[in-house]
Amino acid sequence: MNVIRTNAEMRAYRRRATGSVGLVPTMGAFHGGHHALMRAARERCDHAVVSLFVNPTQFNESADLQAYPRDEARDAAEAAALGVDVLYAPSVEEVYPPGFATSVQVAGLSDVLEGAERGPGHFAGVCTIVSKLLNVVQPDLAFFGQKDAQQVAVVRRMVRDLDLPVELAIIPTVREPDGLAMSSRNQRLSPDERARALALSRALNAATAAIDAGVRDAEAIAAAARAAMNGVQPEYLALVDPDSFQPIATVDGRVLIAVAARIGATRLIDNTIVQPAATRERASTT
Ligand code: AMP
Repeated sequence: MNVIRTNAEMRAYRRRATGSVGLVPTMGAFHGGHHALMRAARERCDHAVVSLFVNPTQFNESADLQAYPRDEARDAAEAAALGVDVLYAPSVEEVYPPGFATSVQVAGLSDVLEGAERGPGHFAGVCTIVSKLLNVVQPDLAFFGQKDAQQVAVVRRMVRDLDLPVELAIIPTVREPDGLAMSSRNQRLSPDERARALALSRALNAATAAIDAGVRDAEAIAAAARAAMNGVQPEYLALVDPDSFQPIATVDGRVLIAVAARIGATRLIDNTIVQPAATRERASTT
């Protein structure tokens, strides 16, 4: 596996590469979710490039940035074992040279849920770094996890609005056997917090069960979800349209249920998309 540090070397690799290139953007501290994205890139593309960059501009809390787990040697070994061709790990100075002044913003979508909690700069930071990575690597396919559902919606909109020549591949959320969505932040949980963190997936399961039982009122579904959190207070628990992220009052088709909560000092997010059985049948006959 090549480890590439500069944009110039990355561009030179891209120019030489024959066949398709897949990019998996990451911030490192790899787990099963990252592995699933890398395997998909390996399977679907001739060249799999994984970027590793802890992007300071998308962190709204400097303590969160400082505490973000970093272990490049371990990450490199795991990526190599999965058959990744390139680990693109530029320095902060390479990505943001002195005088850097540009930002890419997706209005509206970036302002709700994660955007509202983490501030308007979060998704601007995400969009700016993803644009830069797409420009430097020029992949045919870019792989993102459904775990970060709003990131998927925002990046999809940016790619469409700016006519970026890339196809997006979205990989389902990888979970621990007990349902906890894998996250680099899970490493920070104490054993007690690890147990309480199950509140998020339990909330999503309860909401799904309510919809399966025929409940259609979003407030009633959200109440059932909250009741399953065993006292953990969500920062938000919302039923929204999966593309526009606008709130849904009555479930009448695909709905994204998104939840965020602080477990001790660690902020976790999770989500699921549910399609009620009756609307599934309707969708398949129209
Ligand atoms: P991160 O390193 O946290 O920025 O994540 C890099 C990519 O991995 C993003 O596209 C995430 O959505 C994705 N990802 C993170 N956790 C998971 C997971 N549990 N399952 C699937 N994809 C994930």
